[in-house]
Amino acid sequence: MFSSFAKAFTNLFKTPQTIDYPLTPIEQEKEHRGLIEYGQEACIYCLKCEKACPPGAILFVPVENPPENEKNKKGLKYHYNPYLCIYCSECVRACPKPDEALWQSNKKSLPATKEDRVNESWFELERLKKQTD
Ligand code: SF4
Ligand code: SF4
Repeated sequence: MFSSFAKAFTNLFKTPQTIDYPLTPIEQEKEHRGLIEYGQEACIYCLKCEKACPPGAILFVPVENPPENEKNKKGLKYHYNPYLCIYCSECVRACPKPDEALWQSNKKSLPATKEDRVNESWFELERLKKQTD
């Protein structure tokens, strides 16, 4: 009994093991597997990343009349769904140009809101993809 009181009393003066979240932000670990980033300039449109992705979070979908900065020889546009991504890095491992065309950052995904209509827009891309496969 006395030892429990003594322990409780000494704990009052110790540095807490917890942080005052959200007032104190959580430190981002350097090795954190975060969002996938894409470098269109270096991409050769081999689609290896799309095929390697277990949940199908990467889609290359044909675009009609793409803007000048999105034009490429296959007429495809890269799409990435951070809410489907499981951050496994398989796409980066499959990419012949890792660090230039595709890489994993340590950025965390922001929560989606209802207005983002993430599911609807992704279903539409999947539908377009199926039509052209
Ligand atoms: S990290 Fe994994 S789940 Fe995310 S896009 Fe790459 S292969 Fe897909
Ligand atoms: S694997 Fe790399 S080079 Fe190939 S389509 Fe994906 S991002 Fe582009």
